Amino acid sequence: MPVFNYFFDMDSYMSKERFAGIKKFAADKKTPFVVISLSVVAQKYDELKKSMPYADIYYAVKANPEEEVLKLLAERGSSFDVASVHELDLMLKLGVSPDRLSYGNTIKKAEDIRYAYEKGMRLFATDAESDVRKIARNAPQSDVFFRILTDGIGADWPLSRKFGTHPAVAFRNILLAKELGLNPRGISFHVGSQQYDVTQWRVPISTCKELFDAAKKHGIDLDIVNMGGGFPARYIQPVEETQVYADEVTEDMREIFGSEFPRVIIEPGRYLVGDAGVLVSEVVMISNKERGGIPWLYLDVGKFGGLIETIDESIKYPIYTERGGEVNNYIIAGPTCDSVDILYEKLQYRLPCSLEEGDRIYFLTTGAYTQTYSAVFFNGLPPLKAYVID
Ligand SMILES: *Cc1c(COP(=O)(O)O)cnc(C)c1O
Repeated sequence: MPVFNYFFDMDSYMSKERFAGIKKFAADKKTPFVVISLSVVAQKYDELKKSMPYADIYYAVKANPEEEVLKLLAERGSSFDVASVHELDLMLKLGVSPDRLSYGNTIKKAEDIRYAYEKGMRLFATDAESDVRKIARNAPQSDVFFRILTDGIGADWPLSRKFGTHPAVAFRNILLAKELGLNPRGISFHVGSQQYDVTQWRVPISTCKELFDAAKKHGIDLDIVNMGGGFPARYIQPVEETQVYADEVTEDMREIFGSEFPRVIIEPGRYLVGDAGVLVSEVVMISNKERGGIPWLYLDVGKFGGLIETIDESIKYPIYTERGGEVNNYIIAGPTCDSVDILYEKLQYRLPCSLEEGDRIYFLTTGAYTQTYSAVFFNGLPPLKAYVID
């Protein structure tokens, strides 16, 4: 069983100055809330752009749709992957033109496709025959990506099975799309969110190439590989440098596509915003349920307050407290009257024995998939508040 000590190397997450700034900002505010640092988002964007200069970045809006975050990325030249017409409206409201948007969700109603088309969107992902027909009818002549299945191995948050098709089915859909007057543009995939294994891009990239070749035989020139997201944020487990992922992916592309290097799209979500967030919470209660047992640490934030990705203890957030001294295992749980609201029980988080009720607990790397995941009024609790700072 993995054991996590709270006293990890804070410097590998952020500078002392940055943490001091967040702490100061947070000092007079009522917990729980998440603080998003724009400078980190900017830095991550620049780093990714630099390490894969040939790739067009389509930020996955769902990871963190705070307007300041979106504006910052738009100003830096990012395009955007939207999951619904509501995200589309949000992007249009911010002045991003529809030709910088991709409708990456393969699950959509005919009326939503129509709406996106009327607003000027011309790029859609698909993974079902019925969706191809819906796109053809409601967004005629649009560009289409065909999403293929991946197995999600190596990822903390796999997206396997639900999305994509077997390549043979994708191929049939490509032919159908062409027949229906659409413009098949490329293949998309997602290697699973929070992907640690740098070699996981290789197999789907070669499937892309096979589909490019097969399509060509039918007079269809695919020219875009859309690699989706998957680049990791820095949770408890160390991750490789961005450049290491980028080099591996670039090398795979070169080997597989040779001189016919296609246009490449990437759709980072977690990678760009995860590290930018610090969730500030408070210890509500500490309870020793049985003599010699593991004490329970109840916080004012839990699965319903934005930390749903702890489901099956998948995402392992770095937890920080300013207490020190001897450490103990704790079972960490949220504040609601629901027994699924336990964050970590199998994973043994070791935190100081000196922790007291009222102490602040900081969850690092909480900039992605937190605030928008929080419940609206469960147990009467308001959704997680977010503050955006420079
Ligand atoms: C959610 C999503 C992403 C972002 O994935 P991350 O692992 O957060 O980078 C990218 N593309 C699509 C189609 C998605 O649904």
